[in-house]
Amino acid sequence: MLGLMMAEPLRVATIIEHAAKWHGDTEVVSRLPEGGIHRYTYADANRRSKQLAQALLKLGIENGDRVGTLAWNTHRHFELYYGVAGIGAVCHTINPRLFPEQLVFIINHAEDRLLFFDLTFLPLVERLAPVCPTVEKWVLMAGPTHLPKDSALPGLCSYEDLLGAETSDYAWPTFDENTACSLCYTSGTTDQPKGVLYSHRSTVLHAFSISLPDALNCSAADVVMPVVPMFHVNAWGLPYAAPLNGAKLVLPGAGMDSASLFELFETEKVTFSAGVPTIWLALLQFMREGQRRFGTLRRTVVGGASCPPALMKAFEEELGVTIMHAWGMTETSPLGTAGHLKAHHAGLNPADSLAIRTKQGRVVFGVDMKIVGDDGQGLPHDGVAFGDLLVRGPWVVRDYFRSHTPGELTADGWFRTGDVATIDPDGYMHITDRSKDVIKSGGEWISSIDLENLAIAHPAVAEAAVIGVPSAKWSERPLLIVVRRPGMEVSGEELLAFFRGKVAKFCEPDAVAFVEKLPHTATGKLLKTQLRKEFAGYSVA
Ligand code: AMP
Repeated sequence: MLGLMMAEPLRVATIIEHAAKWHGDTEVVSRLPEGGIHRYTYADANRRSKQLAQALLKLGIENGDRVGTLAWNTHRHFELYYGVAGIGAVCHTINPRLFPEQLVFIINHAEDRLLFFDLTFLPLVERLAPVCPTVEKWVLMAGPTHLPKDSALPGLCSYEDLLGAETSDYAWPTFDENTACSLCYTSGTTDQPKGVLYSHRSTVLHAFSISLPDALNCSAADVVMPVVPMFHVNAWGLPYAAPLNGAKLVLPGAGMDSASLFELFETEKVTFSAGVPTIWLALLQFMREGQRRFGTLRRTVVGGASCPPALMKAFEEELGVTIMHAWGMTETSPLGTAGHLKAHHAGLNPADSLAIRTKQGRVVFGVDMKIVGDDGQGLPHDGVAFGDLLVRGPWVVRDYFRSHTPGELTADGWFRTGDVATIDPDGYMHITDRSKDVIKSGGEWISSIDLENLAIAHPAVAEAAVIGVPSAKWSERPLLIVVRRPGMEVSGEELLAFFRGKVAKFCEPDAVAFVEKLPHTATGKLLKTQLRKEFAGYSVA
């Protein structure tokens, strides 16, 4: 027997429609890549998303067509999220920090028909256009005054001209909630990038889930500023969760440096933010240097890479900002786990509380997870046994877009994350490594992440990476690679001594190498494949 409730398909456009109707005066504020601050409301955003939808239909965009974006976090990118998906087309957010060859691969693989880009990326798209034959029209996300005098970009026009020709007299259509709404390629540090194709259903369910108190806890009382880019897994879902809850949204545009971010935090009275550890490490240094304090910022989500405990401690003790550690992947929309305490943790001393909250956290409802050994058998949740992390749920990838390789799923339907983790009796998951980064020394496994987190706690260390290098006796040993803080001196010996007594003897790094900077992926993660190449000849006695 079927239930007798209304069968309303879940669609992302219902989120902006809801925000316009019930939080119509709430602001969306953007720093524009072409300069200046733009300010309007959710009611305006819905109207303009509808104008965009009508423009897309006039250009012949149909259900399932891909519309690419090379853009920062701005109100126009926000409108593309809703305008493109709202008509049943697919908003393909492209990471402009990828190598040009990867960008060409991604655009051609997705067969984007239109490509919307910010002024910042004009020189880049002029190089891409001749080798991206599927793109019929390139749209500059600015007003007509910013259009270049002469350009060979096919069909080039300005976003504002496109919208200006349309009215907002449009009703969002209804269609199957399993229709695709957005596409994001993984950064692919080793293989070619792979496309994750989200559905309206997965996106709306994920937006509900991340809004919960033990997830990102997003409310109409918040002013939310996603520092994580809208081309990195849909800015972790915040451009959906903020309007769903009626939170004011602040979009930092191209200004990702600490001074620009701090200025927006203060002028827009931001209460809640989200970004990768590198952003917060830089901001911490900036705050310390100027002895600055945040006026309203109270909490931030840190994810995408392991959050060093020293960073969490400094933000909380020095700046009064609570860091909530979260784990996820492009393939999981992204939220999988979030690190909040339980009732029985009340009264824990700060060190024990920190030890729990620096794990990657507990699963949110909707995601299930387990760890398995090499034989595929489940391992105990004792906080000690570690194995391959498998996940499943309605916002976890089932297959990659146009993938010609066998899926990543196990025979019984679990997604292999490629991460190695423990799960403790309270359900807190702790990532020890990417499976490819684990260091295997004399049969024992050493967590490179644990060593990096320790190194970063040293006052002279700005950034650290640990990789395994060949050792005749142990097969592999950990090498610590360090970027010193500007103006600080520290020797390799001093750093090695810093580890003594803090980790098991066999886990201590054997050697230290100093570098000017470390290589990162397009999403800000340490690019260990590159480091392994650079240090290929290195071996420890
Ligand atoms: P991406 O799909 O580019 O966002 O990368 C996902 C990968 O980033 C995961 O599989 C993890 O290896 C890593 N990652 C994400 N969040 C965390 C975290 N909080 N701690 C450690 N690694 C993380």
